[in-house]
Amino acid sequence: MAQRAIYPGSFDPPTFGHLDIAERASGLFDELIVAVGTNSDKQPFLSVAHRIESLTECMAGLKNVQVSSFDGLLVDFAEAQGCQVIVRGLRAVSDFEYEFRVAMANRRLRPGIETLFLMSRDEHSFLASSVVREVARLGGDTSSFVPPVVEAMVREASRARQAR
Ligand code: ADP
Repeated sequence: MAQRAIYPGSFDPPTFGHLDIAERASGLFDELIVAVGTNSDKQPFLSVAHRIESLTECMAGLKNVQVSSFDGLLVDFAEAQGCQVIVRGLRAVSDFEYEFRVAMANRRLRPGIETLFLMSRDEHSFLASSVVREVARLGGDTSSFVPPVVEAMVREASRARQAR
């Protein structure tokens, strides 16, 4: 049976840290679904369509990666897609407590699905979507945090916000 994994997240916006985790995970499994979660109560920065479009462009070179979106419970979506593994990235210790709780809850809900953590590369270990949003809001250069396709979307989104 082909090993299929899912890498879920908000990806708002996708950063080099996310892309690194996706690329490394794609080398570990036959197929990887990068899944944009859409059920956050937060007002999103980038639309789901823009997150999917930019991730799809960034993943174009990885033939076993597919980008999609989901709402509702992650384990339900993972199971419906035939994924046996959930991949998450871990940065500093600050990620651990939250990730541990979510992984435990997911295991309780679906004991057959494993959560696998990949450690961030050191050069991405400080990098978070919230930092990118803040830098963009203050008019800073985000080119060392996100790929060009995302940078253009981020610039446009912060311009639209400021015009409101
Ligand atoms: P969520 O809202 O689900 O936490 P994020 O988009 O913030 O969504 O993150 C998705 C996953 O990617 C999480 O497991 C997070 O820890 C991981 N991640 C985010 N940024 C990085 C990074 N710079 N390096 C490695 N992993 C990261």
